[in-house]
Amino acid sequence: MSIKVSSITKTYKTQKALNKVSFSADKGQIIGFLGPNGAGKSTMMKILTGFIKPNSGEVFVNEIDVLQNPIQAQKTIGYLPEHNPLYKDMFVREYLQFQAAIFKIEKSQIEICIKKVGLTLEAHKKINQLSKGYQQRVGLAAAILHNPTVLILDEPTTGLDPNQLVEIRALIKELGKEKTVLFSTHIMQEVEAVCERVIIIKKGQVLVDKKLSELKQNNLQNIEVTFDYKLEEQFIQKLPNIVSYKNNYDNTWYITFESKEDMRPKIFDFAQENGLKILGLNAHNKNLETLFREVTSN
Ligand code: ADP
Ligand code: MG
Repeated sequence: MSIKVSSITKTYKTQKALNKVSFSADKGQIIGFLGPNGAGKSTMMKILTGFIKPNSGEVFVNEIDVLQNPIQAQKTIGYLPEHNPLYKDMFVREYLQFQAAIFKIEKSQIEICIKKVGLTLEAHKKINQLSKGYQQRVGLAAAILHNPTVLILDEPTTGLDPNQLVEIRALIKELGKEKTVLFSTHIMQEVEAVCERVIIIKKGQVLVDKKLSELKQNNLQNIEVTFDYKLEEQFIQKLPNIVSYKNNYDNTWYITFESKEDMRPKIFDFAQENGLKILGLNAHNKNLETLFREVTSN
């Protein structure tokens, strides 16, 4: 197992950023970490890379306990932080030499990484002369200098123009051939273009953790149900196979299920067991795109 996160909770003063987040990643997977702004993506990545500590929970990367041995874990992790902090007055090669020196990395790695991220023709330029897309490549080169097996990329494509987007996505896919990659984004098309698995996070909680192929099988059902009584959210959560839910108006809920079997009879059973009456029930099909839009909207 490349990544194993168990029940991570993180609170900044009074702001709960992560609430019992758990997931794991097998070796060699490319995973999209999808969620709206403020969902907790960057916080999770800072914890995974040992830069901040959670209030509770456990994190293992390559079987190393990140909270106990952050430095040992960091030796196996490549991290591209949000906003890609670079020394922009430096030349590309000079910057990578500087990074390699700090982390005592063999010099031979520098040219290997320059080539890997497609910077051969730009390596003699100043970083601030490069386009945003090429600056991202410099960040990626720096992240893989020590030949890590796990890559954590925090919104690597944000702010890129459409051509640069395509190029950086292709590069992430290429790197994913030999590494486990977890990258965050708030763009669902990106997940479809690059990933084999998606973890959707919202308000500090994991809502969906599935292979894309499973989600595409379209076992998603949307059911709008009206009860004769206004129910609490916790009550709705007791229904099986729930992916997301929304209280449309007073007694009406719009619920997405992921299940092969028709969930309507289950809702009838649920109502009966709990002494409720169903005043209305509508089923709709749903595709991946609408699911993503709904789940990730604020
Ligand atoms: P994302 O990367 O998904 O946009 P973040 O992990 O940056 O989300 O933030 C999650 C929540 O934690 C947000 O509500 C954000 O305002 C809050 N937060 C993040 N960093 C800090 C901090 N250093 N101090 C206080 N609150 C923070
Ligand atoms: Mg962020």
